[in-house]
Amino acid sequence: MAHLRFKALDLANNRPKIQVEENGKISEFFAADVFGIDQMEKLLASDVFKKVKIAIDDGQKIDSETANAVASAAKLWAISKGATHYTHWFQPLNGATAEKHDTFFDAQSGIERFKGTTLVQQEPDASSFPNGGIRSTFEARGYTAWDPSSPMFIYGVTLCIPTVFVSYTGEALDNKAPLLKAVEVIDIAATKVCQLFDKKITRVRASLGCEQEYFVIDKALYSSRPDLVMAGRTLFGHNPARGQQLDDHYFGSIPPRIYNFMKDFEIEALKLGIPVSTRHNEVAPSQYEVAPLFEDINIATDHNLLLMDVMSKVAERHRLKVLFHEKPFAKLNGSGKHNNWSLITNTGVNLFQPSSSARENLLFLIFLITTVKAVHEYADLLRASIASAGNDHRLGANEAPPAIMSVFLGSQLTNVLDELEKNGNVKVEKGDNMYMKLGIDKIPPIILDNTDRNRTSPFAFTGNKFEFRAVGSTDNPGTPMAVLNLIVAEQLTQFYNAVEKDINKGTDKRLAIVNVLRKYIKESNAIRFEGDGYSEEWLKEAKKRGLSNIKDTPRAIDAYLTEKAKSIFIKHGVLNETEIEARNEIRWENYIKKIQIESRVMGDLALNHIVPTAIAYQNKLIKNANGLNGLGIKNTQVLKMIDSMSDYIETIQREVENMTEERKRINKIVDNRKKALAYCDDVKIKYFDKIRYAVDKLELIVDNEDWPLVKYREMLF
Ligand code: ADP
Ligand code: MG
Repeated sequence: MAHLRFKALDLANNRPKIQVEENGKISEFFAADVFGIDQMEKLLASDVFKKVKIAIDDGQKIDSETANAVASAAKLWAISKGATHYTHWFQPLNGATAEKHDTFFDAQSGIERFKGTTLVQQEPDASSFPNGGIRSTFEARGYTAWDPSSPMFIYGVTLCIPTVFVSYTGEALDNKAPLLKAVEVIDIAATKVCQLFDKKITRVRASLGCEQEYFVIDKALYSSRPDLVMAGRTLFGHNPARGQQLDDHYFGSIPPRIYNFMKDFEIEALKLGIPVSTRHNEVAPSQYEVAPLFEDINIATDHNLLLMDVMSKVAERHRLKVLFHEKPFAKLNGSGKHNNWSLITNTGVNLFQPSSSARENLLFLIFLITTVKAVHEYADLLRASIASAGNDHRLGANEAPPAIMSVFLGSQLTNVLDELEKNGNVKVEKGDNMYMKLGIDKIPPIILDNTDRNRTSPFAFTGNKFEFRAVGSTDNPGTPMAVLNLIVAEQLTQFYNAVEKDINKGTDKRLAIVNVLRKYIKESNAIRFEGDGYSEEWLKEAKKRGLSNIKDTPRAIDAYLTEKAKSIFIKHGVLNETEIEARNEIRWENYIKKIQIESRVMGDLALNHIVPTAIAYQNKLIKNANGLNGLGIKNTQVLKMIDSMSDYIETIQREVENMTEERKRINKIVDNRKKALAYCDDVKIKYFDKIRYAVDKLELIVDNEDWPLVKYREMLF
């Protein structure tokens, strides 16, 4: 077995350098492969373009004549750029993106065709995508429908059309449809609140900037590790003598081979209109981050998914493998996808940007405080929105921060909120400078640059946006973003109603606003935390505050099924009851499959790779001990090694057998929720660490020449 390891290492260490083409100025090729607004304006008749523009801006339906015109222009444009096929590009609930390519060429007529109806709607074979029981077997149909708000693009030789995916009976079967609805809901709720101050505000858009963390290792090393290939993470591997304790990787210089890869995938991404802007090393060895500039949330989500795909494909060219898993290597930093989120009005105001004008600051405070309140009210739902088997290793596991939701605001804003709450009894009379009296007249306008940054908070205010950091690196950001926008929209609606009621009673508008804000501050104090989120004290403190700390996915996602959660999804039309329940079925199924695969791979590797290697080495030691004995020499260390190897080998054999029996029992459970919980408690928690511990110990004993798996230090340094 070990020969495979050395062959992989040999390949990895002797890669020829790959040349990356210099593409010149970015402005000359940015979005070259996108059929965006500019292209449409150029290629469509002006009345058609106007209609499309309105449809994009206001989410209105496109009539068939307009669709035909767009299809025809898109076809000519795509063919002129070398495209031969088109596909409806969508985001099914298995977490990936899907596409089915059809050719433009129509053999019957002998020409390339692309009709409006084909652009607007398609029927992919829906039966192979997860649906959580929504479609009964006799009705396997589902269709994809064009989302004009996200531009078409050419990927390879295919024109990709971003679409939503729904069942024949109208239920959403993807991640995009609920996001689009949630974004609409927050638009309406936020606009209403803004109009308390400014009637010119008629639209509020949610923006998202995703920071994507990832690991990169050589393709041969990846291929030589069945655990990485099958489960996306290493199930065994002793941590190297040097991990990340030197902190020298972060912001260190990027190795030339990786730098080349980054440059290459960035060019591809930029051509697709993905505004990648920063690249740097991350905390762990071989860990990196890429971040595009923030965009409209729907587009940013599409771009994030596309970017991950581009990275994987370009890595192939460089004989590299990108690991998007949340925790590919134990004892090293995991990977997340920080979701930077803000709300921006049609008048260009970022509602999370503090300003020097007292009046605008009141609007800022409304949005800040309602968001804090929403996170407090729906912390469990927010936790559920980022739950996955992979992310469990980043949240709540042994080496990870707790899975407690909390909000970091920074000392300046904390003071402002505390002051506002404390001044609750201050009487404001006619003619008073209310802002001054309440202490909200002097919010420092530039909080942006304050160094007061807390990297341990799962949900932090960072100057002019909130940063939801607990999102997992493989996640479709649309899932947590749909929840976040929905809960804030609900809170804004409640805020507006409370203020309106007070105003109707004759209270001054500003005072009515402040009254509700004070109430919210008081009610959501428990969720605010400025300290070290990774500390022991926080665990205790959070418990005292009554905040939940839900460690495992099967428990976390129960939050979707509470009456409270269901009612807001249904009330705002984001998901109906069937859809909510179907989604949890899929989440349970995914979880079960993930743990099942990990458990099987673990058993296979342990019994068929590790144990035979260990026994062979142990036999060498026994021979050695016997030989020494014949010479009358007694080496107690060798005997000790033989003895402890025996223990580890026996532990592995016994625990793998027990784990397999446990799986057999659990596989008979019909109820997916119960089954997922059993996989969590009786397979993962009960066996994984135990088996791993014994294997990793053997790694330290067995002759390096014989060890079958590429070691951590070999993969990472
Ligand atoms: P960090 O210091 O956490 O690495 P950066 O300043 O690099 O953060 O920004 C991270 C992401 O936040 C980028 O994608 C950036 O475009 C995005 N971002 C900046 N401002 C906003 C905003 N107002 N709304 C949403 N995202 C934003
Ligand atoms: Mg960040």
